[in-house]
Amino acid sequence: MTVTPPSPSRPANSPQSLFIHGGRIIDPASGRDEIGDLLIIDGRISESTARPTDSSIPVIDAKGLIVAPGLIDMHVHLREPGGSQKETIASGTRAAAAGGFTSILAMPNTNPVADGPNTIALMTQRARETACVNVFTTGCITVGMKGEQLAPIGSLVKAGVVALTDDGHCVQNNEVMRRALDYARMFDLLTLDHCQDYNLSAGGVMHEGHWSTVLGLPGWPRIAEDMIVARNILLSELTGARILMQHLSSANAVHLVREAKKRNIKVYAEAMPHHIALTDASIEGYNTNFKMNPPLREKIDQDALLAGLADDTIEILASDHAPHASYEKEVEFADAPFGIVGLETELGIFAKILIEGRVLDWPQMLGKLTINPARLLKLDRGTLAPGAIADLTLIDPAHPWKVDATQFHSLSRNTPFNGWNLPARATHTIVDGRVVWSLEKQFEI
Ligand SMILES: [Zn+2]
Repeated sequence: MTVTPPSPSRPANSPQSLFIHGGRIIDPASGRDEIGDLLIIDGRISESTARPTDSSIPVIDAKGLIVAPGLIDMHVHLREPGGSQKETIASGTRAAAAGGFTSILAMPNTNPVADGPNTIALMTQRARETACVNVFTTGCITVGMKGEQLAPIGSLVKAGVVALTDDGHCVQNNEVMRRALDYARMFDLLTLDHCQDYNLSAGGVMHEGHWSTVLGLPGWPRIAEDMIVARNILLSELTGARILMQHLSSANAVHLVREAKKRNIKVYAEAMPHHIALTDASIEGYNTNFKMNPPLREKIDQDALLAGLADDTIEILASDHAPHASYEKEVEFADAPFGIVGLETELGIFAKILIEGRVLDWPQMLGKLTINPARLLKLDRGTLAPGAIADLTLIDPAHPWKVDATQFHSLSRNTPFNGWNLPARATHTIVDGRVVWSLEKQFEI
């Protein structure tokens, strides 16, 4: 059976030609890392690297820049339909482009939730009208994300989803999850799970530990994550289905995934900028921009996540971009919604923690943002091989900048990183050979 790679939703613009001169070409899919030129003809990477004789083809001088496959963020909340005061597909994809991302995977917890082909069709249509980067969709595991009755998985696949998830919620009924995974395996579809046992985390608003005691806030302990990670490992082994543990935050969970991989169980894991850059100590001032789910944990968890990234137990980096309006976040800590925006800061945070911190080098880090998500989701992207779709991100690895949330393209400002100094930044976001955003000209291209 031939499988057609899923096509993304975004406006159909004619693919373009482009010559990128003198950059450090990093293609983690092939191990290529060298200074060189790249020629794009009609939206595809050309075999030739010769400077085009056609003077109408634009040239980018990439001296000092990294030329990477277009970055893919496989964990983004776009809020449309139903939450356009927080984010729309238009604003969210602009935030993605300005962060260096050429493809994003939209989570299904919109309003209505994406538990059937109609909502997927609506999102796809809106993305075609308004998106500036590729939008791929996910469908819910269960109807209404209630964890009770399976969503029509076959119809969701037909509608074009590339993964299943109830993200924001977690299916508590193990029998329902087992059946969902049986279906997912039939379609060889990746299931993404937000790992949270509701009994063990009931009422929790931050990590259970020293700081939750000091601050008098109810705790959401590691064990609530670990329990579901362990459940998913067992169910993956039983069903043969592929499961990715979303936003790992607990040291024990990293350990469980590492051990499962040694036994060749098809489990994967994801790490977010906030969980590797911050701990629960930052909640000292009750700032709700430090409230997310799963919560910020302790140094031992941070260290375990970094070790997991270093030994590839965790193969995916993503943002969990979760926009909320200021009026929603400007309430008591316990009452505020979980989540922070991330698309416009994540590359800089990853460079600061992982590259400056000598946890990973650029090719290793970029692999977790390009070819790894592309392979897991079966997207025909994430590489600079000749013939590949010319989605690229140019990065200045030595471009210090200061985060200013008032400048975000996202409609929301809920970031814990405002005022941070970051060492690196995307300079060009290129989709199908067309520059959709550049640091110099922004969207005026
Ligand atoms: Zn989640």
